[in-house]
Amino acid sequence: MKNPELSHAHAAAPDFIDYFIDSGNFLNIAQEPLRERNCVFCNIAHGEDPSTDLLYKDDNYVAFRSIRPAASHHYLIIPKSHIKDAVGLGAQHVPMLDEMEAIANDVLTQLGGDSRTARIGYHWPPFISVSHLHLHAIAPADDLSIKASILFQPGSKWFRTTQEVVSRIKARAVKPSL
Ligand SMILES: [Zn+2]
Ligand SMILES: [Zn+2]
Repeated sequence: MKNPELSHAHAAAPDFIDYFIDSGNFLNIAQEPLRERNCVFCNIAHGEDPSTDLLYKDDNYVAFRSIRPAASHHYLIIPKSHIKDAVGLGAQHVPMLDEMEAIANDVLTQLGGDSRTARIGYHWPPFISVSHLHLHAIAPADDLSIKASILFQPGSKWFRTTQEVVSRIKARAVKPSL
């Protein structure tokens, strides 16, 4: 039977408020990075994939080894927030792209790779294996098979460097809206 006093005490609070308070999520909601259920990269970003070692992490990004390395150095840098791909990025994302590029170069260098011989860039839909924005950092490019060299070819329609992604954002920003 319902306790009339209890229902009275809760009468002013909508159910969802109760839910967040009860689940302990109330204070965390605003600070939590955007996360997608069942996204393998979201799990890695939150340190919840025991089989993946994080080579780098800070408040906004993590880096880890590709499970299908195309060369002796092949790392992925991802934002903790679930951003699908590079297509929808706008001017507000340029600092993020610059930071990811800097992390890619740092991780490569620290692990003995040479960023001057590297391929660093983003796959373009539909050539994306996991729909969570990830920057590939691969070195040396001489290690790449012919197939991989095509797959990670800067300047192609399917693989774009940070500079190419940023140029595209800037070109779109100045285009008058129709
Ligand atoms: Zn994700
Ligand atoms: Zn990719």
